[in-house]
Amino acid sequence: RLRRFVERPAATADGRRIEVAANISTADEAEAALRAGAEGIGLFRTEMLFVDRGEPPSEDEQFEQYRRVLGEAGDRPVIIRTLDVGGDKPIRYLHLPREDNPFLGYRAVRFYPEFEAIFRTQIAALVRASAFGRLKVMIPMVSQADEVRWIRQVIAEEQARCAQAGIAFDTSMQVGVMVEVPSLAFLLDHLCRELDFFSIGTNDLLQYFSAVDRANPKVAPLYDPMNPAFLRFLKKIVDEVHAEHRWVGLCGEMGGQPNSLPLLVGLGLDEISVASPVIAATKAELASLSASACADLLDEALTCST
Ligand code: PEP
Ligand code: MG
Repeated sequence: RLRRFVERPAATADGRRIEVAANISTADEAEAALRAGAEGIGLFRTEMLFVDRGEPPSEDEQFEQYRRVLGEAGDRPVIIRTLDVGGDKPIRYLHLPREDNPFLGYRAVRFYPEFEAIFRTQIAALVRASAFGRLKVMIPMVSQADEVRWIRQVIAEEQARCAQAGIAFDTSMQVGVMVEVPSLAFLLDHLCRELDFFSIGTNDLLQYFSAVDRANPKVAPLYDPMNPAFLRFLKKIVDEVHAEHRWVGLCGEMGGQPNSLPLLVGLGLDEISVASPVIAATKAELASLSASACADLLDEALTCST
């Protein structure tokens, strides 16, 4: 029954298009994701390239992996997220100090300036790979505008180096950020001028918004994406990004939960990125929904207290 939806563009019964993309963690997973009906890669978590080894991957090794995914995707978009380690995802060779609150600590974009060589190598590989498809670079855990400016400068410098060396790259490669730290959601008017796209990481966003550790079963009942407070927060984010004519997707686990899908459609997201096994089911579910009924449902949910 689901196979019928693999080749179809994802849309609601009343014709609202919402791209359904895939979350992957290795280049090997790209082919299966696209075969399962993914309309792009919405989140390539690159951490797997960096863990369980003695030193970081070279620029060439990374370039080959990124180019492979872009080759599989053809003209479909591929969002590759730069390294998101630290926190609960340690890397031995970085020798990061133990932290009492790793989720609130030295993680992702926050350690790029200290480990600039590692970050620059990844950006250089991405810039080179951008010549081979529709690559979009995404930065995790951004909470301040200064971080965005620093990143953009590093990218511009690596692009200039490629240009000087006569290496081809996509001069209009898009750069975006994860919305997963609540403070970022209150800077969107500024950041929309400096970024091309946003992807809401509900896994972390909900954890930081609700002050609930996403991995602690004791507080799991409080980790509730259906809390109207969180739905209101999501609505604010999508509306503000769209008011500035920018693109906004969602790549947290919430996207793959069938009972939240009508509310996500109501939000008017441009894309939902989910694990490969639920791509066809998500497309099938979308085809059974009416976008206008979903908008009404969301309006109603936003008036609820629980
Ligand atoms: C998220 O935080 O929602 C997300 C997609 O990133 P990760 O789960 O890798 O932290
Ligand atoms: Mg995250």
